[in-house]
Amino acid sequence: MKIHVNQVPAEGLRDRVTYDPTTMDMDRADIHPTDPCQVEAFIVKADQELVVNADIRAPLQMTCARCLEGFVSTVTTDAVFSYKVHPTDVVDITEDVRQEIILAYPMVPICQPGCKGLCSACGQNLNLGVCSHHTARQVADDRSRGDSEAR
Ligand SMILES: [Zn+2]
Ligand SMILES: [Zn+2]
Repeated sequence: MKIHVNQVPAEGLRDRVTYDPTTMDMDRADIHPTDPCQVEAFIVKADQELVVNADIRAPLQMTCARCLEGFVSTVTTDAVFSYKVHPTDVVDITEDVRQEIILAYPMVPICQPGCKGLCSACGQNLNLGVCSHHTARQVADDRSRGDSEAR
């Protein structure tokens, strides 16, 4: 989103932009958007400063840290960017949006609450079924224990 400072009215400006994932260059950060990222912005100008309130939604492909399955989760974040500007400047917020998405990306993505993960002995995905190391009952016990730890 490029903002022409001299086109922002005194009462502020609402704008929205959709970023094609391929233009965001997210692969560099090992983040993989599945669909366009949407930004709704409210832009205000004050003296020599431009302030942008950005509401960011980015659907991203993630890999579950427990079961290693891929899944899609939409990262949402609110950010405020401010720029020192001259009246004739054009401000591009794309790089700041990109940085916000990277910051909002979860450190430990989990595909679903209570994901049962993989069997440490044989690698069976315990969300999909039990193996000889795990009876259905053990999986249920592990799961309820994990959930209460999370609280
Ligand atoms: Zn999982
Ligand atoms: Zn097993």
